[in-house]
Amino acid sequence: MAGAMASTGPERALDKIRAYDRELKLLRHGTALLQWDQETYMPSAAAEERAEQLGLFETLAHDRVAADELGGLLAQAGAGPDSPSGAESLPDLDRALVRHLYREHSLARRIPRELVGRLARAASAGQVAWKAAREKGDFAAFKPNLEGLVALALERADCLGYSEHRYDALLDQYEPYTKTAQVRRVFEELERELVPLAAEIAEAPQVDSAFLYGEYPEFRQAEFGTRVLEEIGWPADRGRLDCSAHPFTIGLGRDDVRITARYDRNFFNTAFFSILHEAGHGLYELGFGEEIRGSTLADGTSLGVHESQSRFWENLVGRSRGFWRHYFPQLRALFPETLEGVDHESFYRGVNQVKPSLIRVEADEVTYCLHIIMRFRLELAMVENSLKVSDLPDAWRAESRRLLGIAPEHDADGVLQDVHWSMGGFGYFPTYALGNLYAAQFTEAFEREQGALEGYLERGEFEPVLGWLRERVHRHGAAKTADELVNSVTGAPLTADAFMRYLRTKFRDIYLTA
Ligand code: ZN
Repeated sequence: MAGAMASTGPERALDKIRAYDRELKLLRHGTALLQWDQETYMPSAAAEERAEQLGLFETLAHDRVAADELGGLLAQAGAGPDSPSGAESLPDLDRALVRHLYREHSLARRIPRELVGRLARAASAGQVAWKAAREKGDFAAFKPNLEGLVALALERADCLGYSEHRYDALLDQYEPYTKTAQVRRVFEELERELVPLAAEIAEAPQVDSAFLYGEYPEFRQAEFGTRVLEEIGWPADRGRLDCSAHPFTIGLGRDDVRITARYDRNFFNTAFFSILHEAGHGLYELGFGEEIRGSTLADGTSLGVHESQSRFWENLVGRSRGFWRHYFPQLRALFPETLEGVDHESFYRGVNQVKPSLIRVEADEVTYCLHIIMRFRLELAMVENSLKVSDLPDAWRAESRRLLGIAPEHDADGVLQDVHWSMGGFGYFPTYALGNLYAAQFTEAFEREQGALEGYLERGEFEPVLGWLRERVHRHGAAKTADELVNSVTGAPLTADAFMRYLRTKFRDIYLTA
């Protein structure tokens, strides 16, 4: 009788690992619900206890990942330093789960519990200090916190360990298995191409975008945004769109992904492009395959790949000519006075205006990566101890002038503009630029297999586009590493080539052909 055949140690361990993993996922979704509520509907007086609640949930999850029990189960499954995916007899998907958990377990074991607490407290105090300092444009007020956060990040990196560069350990938290040397190489290539392209565009006749700053009543923006969301394939019974001060996406369950938007009555881009952006993140989370749903493999494989999905819908779809050929008549019907005399072509050009700005989140597609390269350089210099925190504002101005040709007068528009460092998020920024590169490289693969993206968008046919992404990218979640994924989807490792081809073609057409 086949059923009587004793299953081997590794297979027996897998049943227990899957149950253990499922509870970890449930715990994380519970934590996510508290976070989502905090950013959307929570009354302000609840903030203090909510921080306590979140702290407890996060500690429970950390303990569960670091527990001896999980370590024992993973060892039974054959996992070890030389076999992170476990026994070779296991099916591929089980090996992916073992690799994923073994990595998390090993990393969590390296951070002393006492350091976890210090990091959380420093991040929480850092955000409070940063908010106050940014309002007053007072870098000196934030400097002691930032010095502490840099020191803690280095302490953390040393606990996690690295073989080539200290920054590897920080980058690896957000972009697993990616090395500083790879990012440096790709960013050098990008800088070489982007700086002259931006300069070439600056010399050309400029496009008009004044109509984007007209009257756009919020309820009509919401109506348009919701319509587009539905039509690109957002399932209304598995997700929600709410409002928050800073737009974000968060997964609360297998069939529950929430996105948020912020509306600006006098600037069309704020809400619409961030709805598309967050929808891209959300569609990735909603597209994890049946075989990994509800497990910890149902997660973005890296922040760069996650960002590729948001950038794809925001830029390669939402800022394309085909998309506005399709949607502009509907948009003009909703805002007839504001868009009087504007046609789809001038609207398309308007939403693609290139203009170096001081603020990263307002940057156009050509200059966006330069903002990231600047932050990467400064982080590297701090990690290598060649830049002191006290010299950071001046270093920021110098880099900004070199890369963007402009420099902030006030630190609020410079070194204090982003929240990441106040939370100890060193190593995070590169993932934004990598997202642009992944998006362009995936799109070239789509077009090789399915034909021009533009044609689908012009006809309002989103289903084949989303279907392809689900099948090739979303389904796998974290079962494939970012590198395995990009190789399997595009047949090559990540480079800046596809992104630069995309930018050159699009922006030379807009700016350099009269
Ligand atoms: Zn994003």
